Amino acid sequence: MSSMIVFRCPRTGMKVQTPLFKQAANEPKLYELVTCPACTQFHFINKATGKALGDSSE
Ligand SMILES: [Zn+2]
Repeated sequence: MSSMIVFRCPRTGMKVQTPLFKQAANEPKLYELVTCPACTQFHFINKATGKALGDSSE
């Protein structure tokens, strides 16, 4: 069972959902590296806000 994260792809503007990679519990990170199903690129996603790093819109 893996947790999912919802974010907006900064390249396509599409709202997408992707599983989070498992990580060590003692390694809290604000940004999570995910493979984007919309554009197949990697994005750093802010887990608190669901926004992609470098997403300048809004
Ligand atoms: Zn993307």
